[in-house]
Amino acid sequence: MTQRMSDKEYSIKQLRIQLEHLTNDLNKTTEHIQLLEIQEESKFIPQDYEPEQEISELLKRQNSISHEIITVKKKIQRLSAKTILKAELIILPVLIILLFFVATNYTLQPPEQSSIIKTRYLTENLQGGILDDYKHWNIISNTPLVVNIENNAQISDKKIQDIEYVITSTDTITEDSSLLYHSDAVSKSQFFKGWQGAIDTIFDTKYYVPGKFNVIQSSNGEGDIVITLSTINDADGYFGTTRTILDGNQILKAFITIYNADKLTDNQIESIVRHEFGHALGLPHTNNSGDLMHETIMTNHSYISECDINSLKKLYNDEKPSDDFCNSG
Ligand SMILES: [Zn+2]
Repeated sequence: MTQRMSDKEYSIKQLRIQLEHLTNDLNKTTEHIQLLEIQEESKFIPQDYEPEQEISELLKRQNSISHEIITVKKKIQRLSAKTILKAELIILPVLIILLFFVATNYTLQPPEQSSIIKTRYLTENLQGGILDDYKHWNIISNTPLVVNIENNAQISDKKIQDIEYVITSTDTITEDSSLLYHSDAVSKSQFFKGWQGAIDTIFDTKYYVPGKFNVIQSSNGEGDIVITLSTINDADGYFGTTRTILDGNQILKAFITIYNADKLTDNQIESIVRHEFGHALGLPHTNNSGDLMHETIMTNHSYISECDINSLKKLYNDEKPSDDFCNSG
């Protein structure tokens, strides 16, 4: 019996090592794709060079690594499960796994309107179709999500703290909400400055809304949500990208890239990360022009609203957040 247990533990250990290698491989591939896409957008590439082909090969590779990761994770789960559960897990139906990519991009307006950030939101799957889909994390209650801030832009500790604040703060602010609700009357509403506070108000959803965040700083791509701060200047003027790796509509990992991170003001970086983090939790854009999750946001008023919280509730109850009252404006 003891021997068998240790064999099992050995197998789990081997699988975890394999998982780590695969994860590193996935991160490198993803970074490579991001780099090629930036090159493609900029005009500084040789004329006879077509990055599309290489990107498409890399996307296939990303897809197959992700499949392997899911397979290894399932093996670990099976091995870790109690004996009684074993049989049930083995007969779990084989799921057809589709990987989707969600790309979210930001554009900064010309300097005279610099308080407004325009965003472009694209949802595409690997078959090239455009999806109008919703997605969410599917984790065990109270499991923390590891948020890794990769400070490749060498920005100040103060700005790193600002980013952390946007995620972990429970602070609120009472502001005029007439813009949000398209009302001429002056009305005041409570907004959250950090996602933690907003999520703390949500209970009893079908799926657990990630409500614990373990923020780390590391440069090897580990973590569930990786926020890469880059000095790269995106040719189209985008200031952020979020790519979500999905298994069906379940989020497996999210990559947020902030471009020009060294040149953004505190307010801009906070607003962009607050918006992007919403995407990393699964939120799509709303069509309410006053809302944080609108494709155009104002960096002096970009807090988490009741609308956003309601959208999160819907998402984690498997309802389409696009039907939310946020969108009635
Ligand atoms: Zn967006």
